[in-house]
Amino acid sequence: MIARSPADGQGKDAGEPWQRALQTVIGDVDELLAILGLARRDVDIDIDDDDDDGQAFALRVPRAFVARMQPGRADDPLLRQVLPLRAERLPLPGFSCDPLAEAQAMRQPGLLHKFHGRVLLLVSGHCPIHCRYCFRRHFPYAATQPARGDWQRVFDGIAGDPSISEVILSGGDPLSLPDRQLQWLIDGLAAIPQLRRLRLHSRLPVLIPQRVTARLVQLLADCRLPVSLVIHANHAQELDEAVAAALAPLRRAGVTLLNQSVLLAGVNDRLDSLCALSERLYAIGVLPYYLHLLDRVAGAGHFAVADERVHELHAGLLARLPGYLVPRLVREVAQAPSKVPLPLVAAG
Ligand SMILES: *Cc1c(COP(=O)(O)O)cnc(C)c1O
Ligand code: SF4
Repeated sequence: MIARSPADGQGKDAGEPWQRALQTVIGDVDELLAILGLARRDVDIDIDDDDDDGQAFALRVPRAFVARMQPGRADDPLLRQVLPLRAERLPLPGFSCDPLAEAQAMRQPGLLHKFHGRVLLLVSGHCPIHCRYCFRRHFPYAATQPARGDWQRVFDGIAGDPSISEVILSGGDPLSLPDRQLQWLIDGLAAIPQLRRLRLHSRLPVLIPQRVTARLVQLLADCRLPVSLVIHANHAQELDEAVAAALAPLRRAGVTLLNQSVLLAGVNDRLDSLCALSERLYAIGVLPYYLHLLDRVAGAGHFAVADERVHELHAGLLARLPGYLVPRLVREVAQAPSKVPLPLVAAG
């Protein structure tokens, strides 16, 4: 079932269930812990009220995601993705604020050109969740967001470079835009004749499945460009029946569904959980695409997985799963023209 509010089709986006869900995300550590039946002493938290720098990337998590966490488990893999731990404060060599040097790839506000033939549009500075491992956790969104009137220049910039054949809507989370704005943006892109593909990278269909409105499905189905949607799930436990039900109509509408995850210590760095993730993705119509090594962003060092362990997991996945369920293990290297695949190294 697709959630459909009475306002749908009347051009009133403000009251849709997913937007209300966005307005009631949890931003208070004690509230989150209370819901899960945990106490501060159960977890090593990095928040105190007189801390002024820690608040820039504070706790933020939608309730629908919290509902999939296991009560009483401080080591829950979903909780670990969002809980600010004291370990984030440890400065680590090699971990920096802009590990991918994105500042240098910014062509104009909102337009990133990092890879051949593809441009990323940062269409929204908002994320419904703050993932502690996020490589854009220090990103100066406010300074890089195009104003509404600037989008024509972005379209012109794309149209003026015939080498660009695919546009990737990114963010923040591009699906945090209301359907009407998304429609306007996608119509503008579809009007650029040289474009052959449109892609969205979004965590929202997983976080708040109600975001997949009938109108969203329709606008993607109607788009001249073939559309792919890359969801960002890191653990099978994120993919409950509501997520499966939200993705089904997208798939029927011809949207190619892919997943990318990040390999995270304490979240999914066990062979069983990676296999379960691939199996669950396939069961709900999504192909595993990328498994990223952690970007070396300051504050995320506690998620790093040792190289030998990475290779062991990779070999394990290949040994256990059909090839199409083994995500490509990649690393992003600043200024490299694509993601860099990791060579297969025999374990042991
Ligand atoms: C890697 C990446 C892309 C583009 O990657 P492809 O190699 O073209 O699939 C786009 N968005 C995000 C968030 C990425 O991590
Ligand atoms: S959803 Fe993506 S961009 Fe947003 S905080 Fe999480 S990792 Fe970062």
